[in-house]
Amino acid sequence: MKKVFIYFFVFLFICFILPALLTKWETSTYSEASSENEENPKEASEEASDAYVYNQYGTIKLLHADTNEVEEVALDSYLCNVVSAEMPVDFEKEALKAQAIVARTYTIYKMHYQKHDNADICDDSTCCQAWISKEDRFARWDGDKEAKWDKIEECVNETKGKVITYENQPINAFFHSNSGGKTELPVDVWGGGSNMPYLQVVETLGEEGYTQYNSEVELTNEEILEKLKQKYADIQIDFNNNEDIKILEYTSSGRVKTIKFGNHEISGTEARSIFGLKSTNFEFVKEEGKIKFIVKGYGHGVGMSQTGADSMAKSGSTAEEIIQHFYVGVEIKEVNSL
Ligand SMILES: [Zn+2]
Repeated sequence: MKKVFIYFFVFLFICFILPALLTKWETSTYSEASSENEENPKEASEEASDAYVYNQYGTIKLLHADTNEVEEVALDSYLCNVVSAEMPVDFEKEALKAQAIVARTYTIYKMHYQKHDNADICDDSTCCQAWISKEDRFARWDGDKEAKWDKIEECVNETKGKVITYENQPINAFFHSNSGGKTELPVDVWGGGSNMPYLQVVETLGEEGYTQYNSEVELTNEEILEKLKQKYADIQIDFNNNEDIKILEYTSSGRVKTIKFGNHEISGTEARSIFGLKSTNFEFVKEEGKIKFIVKGYGHGVGMSQTGADSMAKSGSTAEEIIQHFYVGVEIKEVNSL
C-alpha cells in the first residue's frame, strides 16, 4: 500500500509540482530581465549621474570677497552659480557643459594649489573664478528665469564628476571670452616657463560672428602720453615720427609681444592694460591728433574660448570634443578615479 502512495506522489511531483517550479523560476528570471529592459535608458543614466558621490571635493569652502565670509557649499551646486556667471545662458548646451567641466576642473585645481588660507576658492573673477548668487542672477535675467536656471543645472548634472586631466592630474583650465581666431601660449601672457603643455596655440572658426570679436579704442595723443606717464614718468614721444610708435615683435599666435612708445619698449599685455584694450591682438592707425587701436578678440586668449566653444557646439561638436580642441592631449576622467 505504501508503495502505491510513493508512486502516486512521484507521479504528482513529475506531472504538476516540477513543471510549476520550473515555470516560476523561468518567469522570475524573465521578469527581472524585462524590468531592466523596460526602464528608460535615459532615466537610468540620469539616476546614475544623480547618484554620483564625490569621494572628496564634494564640498568646497567658498570665500565671498566682498564680505570676507567663508561658506561651505556642495561642489556641483557652486558650479551652477559659476557657470551662470561665466557664460551666457543662451549659449549652446554643449558649450555650457564644456564650461561646467572647465569650471569643475579649475575648482579642483585650486583646491590642490590653495591661494587663500581659510578657503578653497573665492568669488572674485580677477582672483579665482566668477560666481553669482541665484537671486542676483534672476534679477539680471529676463524671460523664463526658471527654465534658464534648469538649463544650467542640467549642464552641471550631465557632467557630474567629470574633470579634465593631463598625466592623470587636473589641469589648470584657463579660459577666456573670444580668442580672435587663435588661442595664446601662457608664456606670452604671464612669462616664465610653461609646465602646461596642454595649453597651445589652436585655431577656431566662427568667432568673428560674436560681438566680442571686434572692438576699437580711440585716444588722443595727449591721452596716450598721460596714460603712459602714470607708469613711465620720463616718457617722450614724437607723434610725427613713424618710428616712434611701432610694433616690434609678435607672439606665435600673432598678438603684440612688444611695442615701442618713444623712449620705452613695453609688452603687449602692458599696452592692453594701460590703454584698456580687450586683448593684445591689436593694430593701430594714426589719425589727426589721435591713435585708433583696432582689436580682435576679448581676454588673455589662453585655453578655451567661450565663444569658440559656442561656435563649435553650433557646428555639432560635443562638450568633450570642444575640450579636446582647446586643451591639447588631455583626457576627461571621473574625479573619483584620480
Ligand atoms: Zn581668489
